[in-house]
Amino acid sequence: MPLGEQDKLRLDCFLSRIRKDSDSFLGYPSSKDFDFSIFKDFLHYPINNIGDPFIDGSYKVNSKEFEREVLREVASMLRAPEDNWWGYVTNGGTEGNLYSLYLAREIHPNAMVYFSQASHYSVVKNLHFLNMRHIMIRAQENGEMDYDDLAETINIHRDVPAIIFANIGTTMTEAKDDIKKIQSILDDYAIVNRYIHCDAALSGAIAPFLTPRPAFDFADGADSIAISGHKFIGSPIPCGIVLAKKLAVDRIAQSISYIGTLDTTISGSRNGLTPLFLWHSIRLLGTKGMRARVSKSLEVAAYATERLNQIGVAAWRNENAITVVFPAPSAVLQDKWQLATEGDRSHIVAMPGIENSDIDRFINDMKTDMGIKCAS
Ligand SMILES: *Cc1c(COP(=O)(O)O)cnc(C)c1O
Repeated sequence: MPLGEQDKLRLDCFLSRIRKDSDSFLGYPSSKDFDFSIFKDFLHYPINNIGDPFIDGSYKVNSKEFEREVLREVASMLRAPEDNWWGYVTNGGTEGNLYSLYLAREIHPNAMVYFSQASHYSVVKNLHFLNMRHIMIRAQENGEMDYDDLAETINIHRDVPAIIFANIGTTMTEAKDDIKKIQSILDDYAIVNRYIHCDAALSGAIAPFLTPRPAFDFADGADSIAISGHKFIGSPIPCGIVLAKKLAVDRIAQSISYIGTLDTTISGSRNGLTPLFLWHSIRLLGTKGMRARVSKSLEVAAYATERLNQIGVAAWRNENAITVVFPAPSAVLQDKWQLATEGDRSHIVAMPGIENSDIDRFINDMKTDMGIKCAS
């Protein structure tokens, strides 16, 4: 039985609305330049990657072979130690962060977690779930961790292990904490028991292609990294990738092995489509394509900053960031362009799928908003 005419019409209207809203969408870090219609036949099957991605298990309707390829590709992009990493495709950045903090807690049960004021709102919730002691560190004006405040705070808590929750691209200003600097602070205070997690929700898929390459990956000293898949890579279903050192994961896998499964993930049933989407993007783009996507976004971000400055808006962006920060415009404009706004600041994120022409349309609205009359 097909759906009734009224219901079909309702979906048509909904599609029009989504199209329209997605056409004036500048404030959130979602790529929209993808086409996954090639996967429509897979919608007929209950694909489920339940459990560990590296163990096929008895549920055979899974896409784990593609998930593993995605993980391998991302592991090499993030310079994970050969044969000593593990990971899975998550439901998003938040789950990857939660998972990583969980691993860190199992290794250092009495640790103090340090995270900056500019961290994503989900971090405090995650720490609450895990019941971990934590201290919020001041952020600098640009959103980067205040390293002096970190040093002072660590000095006071030298008796406990340190878990650092570093931001590689903060939500509001896309600032990147420097984990090399953080490690030298830990060295200074002789904190041997430490764990560094990088929340690279947005920038994890950008930073590997930047020059200079930010200090954020496994080779730079990270113990785990979480990325959102629907942000820079792009997916119609939210997803993410988490990678950690294998030894850390073995600990939690062992601790529950008495129930006879390798329940190494947070969710039991896991999305089987999103690994296919990620695999598709990786195959389609390759390293060269990803590098080009990063350059393109940087160009659009530079263009947006310049255009805003031209009309007298004090817009700025962090080095090599695709996020442009400026004083919040009127509520009407915030609403139309879906601008994420925090306090008195808004931002636009030059994600793949956003063109200079979109920026031009936005600038015209900004001019009207500011009462600037066009010559014509
Ligand atoms: C978006 C974001 C998150 C959360 O990721 P989700 O994929 O939405 O769960 C976490 N941290 C930062 C810095 C983010 O920008």
